[in-house]
Amino acid sequence: MQFIDLKSQYKRMEGEIQSGINNVLNHGKYIMGPEVIELEKKLSEFVDSKYCVSCASGTDALLMPLMAFDIGPGDAVFTTPFTFIATAEVIQLLGATPIFVDIEKDTFNICPLNLEQKINEVKNNTKLNLRAVIPVCLFGLPSNLVQIEKIATKNNLKLVVDSAQGFGATINDKKSCSFGDVGATSFFPAKPLGCYGDGGAIFTDDESLYKKLISIRVHGKGDDKYDNIRIGINGRLDSIQAAILLTKFKYYAEEIELRNEVATKYIEKLDKKVKTQNIPSGYKSVWAQFSISAENKNLREIIQNKLKENGIPTAVYYPKPLHLQTAFNKLNNNYGDYPISEHTSEKIFSIPMHPYLKDEEIDVIAKIINHC
Ligand SMILES: *Cc1c(COP(=O)(O)O)cnc(C)c1O
Repeated sequence: MQFIDLKSQYKRMEGEIQSGINNVLNHGKYIMGPEVIELEKKLSEFVDSKYCVSCASGTDALLMPLMAFDIGPGDAVFTTPFTFIATAEVIQLLGATPIFVDIEKDTFNICPLNLEQKINEVKNNTKLNLRAVIPVCLFGLPSNLVQIEKIATKNNLKLVVDSAQGFGATINDKKSCSFGDVGATSFFPAKPLGCYGDGGAIFTDDESLYKKLISIRVHGKGDDKYDNIRIGINGRLDSIQAAILLTKFKYYAEEIELRNEVATKYIEKLDKKVKTQNIPSGYKSVWAQFSISAENKNLREIIQNKLKENGIPTAVYYPKPLHLQTAFNKLNNNYGDYPISEHTSEKIFSIPMHPYLKDEEIDVIAKIINHC
């Protein structure tokens, strides 16, 4: 059994994907070709945001807006410690200080109450400038972006939504990438909408921010290609990846529904021994991962081993919250600082999730877990 079945998806779209790639090979505009322009147009319509800037990865999709906001040394950026390294890495890469905020125990996403508390702490006890907040759509579920948007506005913080795992997810039918100042996503192959290499995209309604992002994407170019007006990066998406995404995007709305059907069946079939991620009412996840938490570390290991014996792969996202990782040692965070993230990391694990998972497979997985 596959954890994420990219092969079945490829078989379904094989002809179209190959002809898309062949078109690029024939026209020869390998970088910023017509596929890139078309993709940006389609994606911005889907998200209902004015502008889309495609880029080389989900990491760049987070880095570029922070660069556009001139975030750097002396600045504080708030985010969750229960996420993939990239979310906080870009903050530290620019010399700014990541300030972690603990999660809610039922959604695994950043807690708005803790965020407000932490904002006050940093205001009162440090000299840092409060600049931005980066909530994550963990496993495909948006954070409480309605509340976080209010807190960001009140405190004059830029809101950058890390929707690398949540492209297409919604709160009351509004796409996660359309909240705040900027939405960022990733097209890494294992993400819900993935290409066959690295890729990402940024969404905004702000024209001046859009222009900065376009410039940062190509080494800080000005109107004249050889007069660079700021420091940027090489952050472009290539035309072959855009062609692949154009094909996969045609099926994406349907795949989101299929993922939700799989999730609904899992939730129905799994008994109370394990807890599934809580989806608040009005929220729609795109189920990048189906993650469940066992009662304790020991039971997690027993279930994972039993599944493995039956040829069913599992994974742990994330075994170590960011505040305890060596790369962030200089922040002087300790075990006990973010207890919900720490406890969650000891109990959580993910089981196979993709749009092509069969009913029989869901049955088998649920039965094994229920019998542990
Ligand atoms: C995957 C991921 C990223 C980074 O995306 P890449 O395309 O791999 O650079 C950022 N944040 C989160 C939450 C992710 O899951």
